Amino acid sequence: MTRDVKSFCRFCIALCGIRVTTDGETITSVKGDPDHPGSRGYTCAKGRSLGRWHHHPRRILEPRRQLGADWEPRSWTDVIDDIAAIMRRNIDSHGPDSVGVYMGTAASLDGAGKWAGEQLSRSLGSRSKYSAISIDNPCKPLVSLLMSGHSGLVPVLDDQRCTLTVFLGCNPVISHGHLNGLPDPVVRLRELAAAPRELWVIDTRITETARLATGVLQPRPGTDFAILAFLIHELLENGGCDADYMEKHARADEVQALRQLLAEWDAHRASEVTGCSVDELVGLLSAVRQHGRLSVQTGTGTTMTAAANVTEWLVWVLHVVTGSYDAPGGMWFHPGFLRQVNLDIAPKEALPSASPGPRSRPELMIWGDEFPCSAMVDEIEAGNLRVLVVFGGNPLSAFPDAQRTLAALEKLDALIVLDVVENEMSEIATHVLPARGQLERADIPFYYDQFNFDFSTQFTPAIVSPAGESQSMWWIAARMAEELGLTFLPQPLSTSSTDVDILRFLATRSHVSFDEIVEKQYVSGSPTFGWVLQQALPEQRWRLIPQEFVAQLQRWRELIPPDGLLVTSRRQHRQLNSQCPPMSHDNADQLVAFIHPDTAVERGIADGDEIVVSSPSGWIAIQAKVSAEVHRDSVSLTHGWIGANVSLLTSASNVDNLTGMVLQTAVPVDVRRR
Ligand code: SF4
Repeated sequence: MTRDVKSFCRFCIALCGIRVTTDGETITSVKGDPDHPGSRGYTCAKGRSLGRWHHHPRRILEPRRQLGADWEPRSWTDVIDDIAAIMRRNIDSHGPDSVGVYMGTAASLDGAGKWAGEQLSRSLGSRSKYSAISIDNPCKPLVSLLMSGHSGLVPVLDDQRCTLTVFLGCNPVISHGHLNGLPDPVVRLRELAAAPRELWVIDTRITETARLATGVLQPRPGTDFAILAFLIHELLENGGCDADYMEKHARADEVQALRQLLAEWDAHRASEVTGCSVDELVGLLSAVRQHGRLSVQTGTGTTMTAAANVTEWLVWVLHVVTGSYDAPGGMWFHPGFLRQVNLDIAPKEALPSASPGPRSRPELMIWGDEFPCSAMVDEIEAGNLRVLVVFGGNPLSAFPDAQRTLAALEKLDALIVLDVVENEMSEIATHVLPARGQLERADIPFYYDQFNFDFSTQFTPAIVSPAGESQSMWWIAARMAEELGLTFLPQPLSTSSTDVDILRFLATRSHVSFDEIVEKQYVSGSPTFGWVLQQALPEQRWRLIPQEFVAQLQRWRELIPPDGLLVTSRRQHRQLNSQCPPMSHDNADQLVAFIHPDTAVERGIADGDEIVVSSPSGWIAIQAKVSAEVHRDSVSLTHGWIGANVSLLTSASNVDNLTGMVLQTAVPVDVRRR
């Protein structure tokens, strides 16, 4: 029998509404849902491939254990027994940190799965928790923490009232957002660019988003912070600040210190550092002055560079000096529809200090409750991390030093991979556990609760029966804990509970009842303004000049990449970092490196030639795509793919000193014809 069921896609942060047509247990089509208030019928090729994903020929259908060179299917009882015994042995001999978890993007889009992975780590008493956050955006929680006292503040574009929007190293037409989702991006960006509104893009490439913009700046990779320093300097010294907002929400002595710190950042200094002309910089400044309030959003073009923290900090400062934060026409802060953090948030007078990194990398600074991914291989090599549970992620493609990462993962006592479709990780795992795919589980976007572009949440039922013996990630984590004599499921929940039971528990603090969310499937309200200023900040004032960022800015010359070619990371239209939804041969993305025509001429490279991109950490062979749309110094590559991947050119020893993030954008490389 044919059915047409409403659901939402969980490949990426946009969470587009979809209509799934089934014939029995077969997915016959996945299309955009025109009635979905967020995506309004829009989907991308990745979402529409969900049916192929569900019926993938390499679906993992049963638990299995590696036995020499072979695999042995095991019952769930046997495989969980086996895993628990290995964990127990390691915890007894080497302590709880010897058992770790890694949570990738796919896990974070599984509402109950991500929650359960974190609970498993907590109940084990292990500090060895790693996630994709430390790969591409640790600057965001750090800036939030050091400027407000809370690491979880998430600014969102006030898309109804904001008249000046700036995307900085962010290409939402392809990525569909970085910290905030942007479904139906082309239509929304056109709305943001319609006069008298302005949409500016600052990027090293004339991206698909830049083509829709009213103004574009194309700075040298890794130098965006200089544009922000210039804007703030000019606004403070020559007018354009929101004096009333600053008097209420910043300390006068900090404003004065900021002025001194930025004194050197006039248009000529910013032009010299970025390569943008003075006229271009002044054009953006005029737009900021004209509109008053603005919304700036960053992406991996800035958040994976050496200047990531400084850039993000100056973005926040720019919003403060223009009175744009927590104010209509600027940005609102998402309290979370399900979590409602605004209900009990309170000012924190004292900021936490960083603790030392794990034993093998004590120099790394830990601000939250997880270790940076840059430490994982060292921890394995040092014998500190011996068992790793991977929830829907692919360290082999997302981590630097790919060969070293592979060798380390193969040394583990147990590498337990929970996933839907086989990949490079399941090939080297000791235990492979079949997780339910998107269409086989009820879900709410629990982890992405604050990352929506609007104040909303949604619910999907399971569309089809679980494939093979697959189980929900939360259940697998809970069974591991149970077998170890631990439990993280609060009464009366148990491993006999259903997915919906767990989701109901997660929605306990929700803005509306779980039953209403289930019934309506998409529930929204209006943005809330003022709660951060009034409830979260000490004396309602931002901490404008955290000394950690001041120190980084003072050594800005070290943050600027050296002369020469620099690799930059970009997203793909039809593939998703590390997840790689299945495309048919003729609609798969082409693996290419964009290089500027000058680079091509200098090195005798023609469009379509095979080239070698190399760094001191490694090299890749890839086809060249000669394009005048990339900055002259940029070599634009994808991130997160096996084979032709920025990660193959980067090193876990080349990290940001505040977050331990591996630098993966604006990193020196060379290029030659193969
Ligand atoms: S943009 Fe594509 S991958 Fe992302 S949620 Fe929408 S359909 Fe899914």
